[in-house]
This record gives sequence, C-alpha cells and structure tokens, in this order.
Amino acid sequence: MEIKVLPLGEIGANCYMLSTEKAAVVIDPGFYSETVSRFLIDNANKERLILLTHAHFDHIGGADSLRKNTDTKIGIGEFDNDTLADTKRNLSDLFHAKLLPFSADLTFSDNQTFSVGNINFKVLHTPGHTPGGVCYLTGDILFSGDTLFKGSIGRTDFYGGDFKTLEKSIKRLYTLDSKTTVFSGHGDATTIEEEKNFNPFIRG
Ligand SMILES: [Zn+2]
Repeated sequence: MEIKVLPLGEIGANCYMLSTEKAAVVIDPGFYSETVSRFLIDNANKERLILLTHAHFDHIGGADSLRKNTDTKIGIGEFDNDTLADTKRNLSDLFHAKLLPFSADLTFSDNQTFSVGNINFKVLHTPGHTPGGVCYLTGDILFSGDTLFKGSIGRTDFYGGDFKTLEKSIKRLYTLDSKTTVFSGHGDATTIEEEKNFNPFIRG
C-alpha cells in the first residue's frame, strides 16, 4: 500500500491518500485540494472511500465538495456524524471556516470492520477529543486523527472533550502491537511503542 500525506489548510491537518491496485482511500480532507480530487478521479476504476477520523472543521472541510466532484462516499464514526451539520460543535464558527452542514453516507461503530478494495480496516472508537472520534487500523498502521500525536495528545477543551475519556482511549491504543505505525491528524508519524515510552501526557 502506498501512503501519501498532504497537510491542508492553515492549521495543517494531515490528509492521507492510500492506494493499492484495487483501492483508493482519502482520510481527513480538511480543505478542498485539487491534488486530492485528482487522486480520486485518477483512481476511479478502483474501490474508493473518504474517511473522517472526527468532525472538526480542519479535518472535514474539503469532504463534501470532494464527494460531489468525485462521486465518492464519506464514512465517519457514528457519534460524530451529527457534528458535521453543527457549525458550533465542529468549530467552523469559532475559526470562521464557513463550513456548510453535511452528513456522511456511512457511519461506523466501535470494532466494526470493513474493506475498501483489498484494504481491510478496523474501527476503534476513541472518544475524548470529540465524542465520536475514531481511529482506523489497517494491518500494523493506525490513523489516529487528533486522539494521539507524536509526543502529544488531542485537546480536550472543545465541545464534548474530556481528558479522562481521552486517557482511556489512548490506553486502549497502547494495547495495540507496539510496532504499529501511527499516522496522526497533525505532525509527524510515530509508533505505539514510542508513545508508550515517551509521550509526556499519557504513558503506557
Ligand atoms: Zn480535532
């Protein structure tokens, strides 16, 4: 599987583009990007999906236009779907992002598995940063959204955030294979082992 990362928008939320010979997946298109749109159009012969880790404006801002331009469905954790249409909760109002309300085509529950082409995903519901935040696990690769960062953790001071809940979610991630690579919503990639040992906020 090939993985490309493209930080989008002023806050630089990481948008990931995953491709195999049978699948093309975009994770967190935070702002509209011609590169991301082109990626899905160029892979129109494959199974495709847009995945959202959570419903904050800097991760979802490009999703609806991308869906329309490329005829690709959107999936999100079941408890964050309503927030896509709530410009207060998704922080669009606070950051003057002017997002239009939308909703996903697919919602995922905890431990749900699904596949796109030959890529198999498992959904881990990891609330704490938002009530419906999820991580997507495929093989030994985790897309952690704003739950866990290299040397940091997601903020818990926005709507629905809660530190104790986030701590529990991250401790759950720490039970994954320690060699698991973690691709976060912002910043550099890390591993479960590195965060368990060195994360200054939550140790394993
Ligand atoms: Zn966020």
